[in-house]
Amino acid sequence: MKTILRKTLLYKSGVEYGDFCINHVEGCAHGCRFPCYAMMMKKRCGIIKSYKDWIKPKIVANALELLDKEIPRYKHKIKFVHLCFSTDPFMYKYPEVSDLTLKIIERLNKDNIRCVVLTKGIYPKELIDTKKYGENNEYGITIVSLNNNFKKRFEPYSAPYKDRIKSLKYLHKKGLKTWISMEPYPTPNLVKQDLIKILNEISFVDKIIFGKLNYNVKSTQFYNNRNFYQECAETVISFCKSKGIKYHIKYGTQNKDNKRTEKIFIKEVPKKVSLEYAKQPSLSL
Ligand code: SF4
Repeated sequence: MKTILRKTLLYKSGVEYGDFCINHVEGCAHGCRFPCYAMMMKKRCGIIKSYKDWIKPKIVANALELLDKEIPRYKHKIKFVHLCFSTDPFMYKYPEVSDLTLKIIERLNKDNIRCVVLTKGIYPKELIDTKKYGENNEYGITIVSLNNNFKKRFEPYSAPYKDRIKSLKYLHKKGLKTWISMEPYPTPNLVKQDLIKILNEISFVDKIIFGKLNYNVKSTQFYNNRNFYQECAETVISFCKSKGIKYHIKYGTQNKDNKRTEKIFIKEVPKKVSLEYAKQPSLSL
């Protein structure tokens, strides 16, 4: 696998439910054709020329050294670190990427920094070692369909849906926190499917983020696009409420955005602790 060197690694993300983020690989072998927003941006900035360039990922060889320098600088500001918004941390059939990701998670957890991870690959079983990786990370997979023909067309080189779900369920059964990114959810003119059936398959997770498909001409042309996504969002919300799952609907998916759920990954301070704090006399006295 080719390597590159970067000058910086940790950055504050602009994604509505994000905080700090790390992308320790340039490109992504999953080659999604929704299209992939990260690929579009890299093309626009002139970093890559084509889809062919994008699916030949290059690993950031100095990622761990950069982390050692940057963690002390940002530690007090970081609520959690998301891996990743512009590549995949457990890229399917790329063990070098998975190995580096495990080292990064371990390094961040060593400084008590939580990780929120998202992949279309398979989670390694090592992650259940909570002495090494901590128990407060949140592990997610993207699932927008269970239809294998749709997957072949839109996510050609990512892990099979079933295997993705199986590896996430394993982490859940071992007591780790899990979540689903159901984004970008396709319109019925791209694939006919039953949203409830998909939700039932992943109903064991703690959190679900649902969002519409953007930048796809066919999806935009779907005659009932607005109503379709409004109805999907309502279905997801009522499903989550009935199962006690936390949720966030990405902005632009519903007719009216709900900002109250965007802090879905911010850790809540237990009420008991905050009350005890309130009872303490002021230290300045
Ligand atoms: S997995 Fe994510 S980063 Fe990789 S090609 Fe697909 S959408 Fe892009």
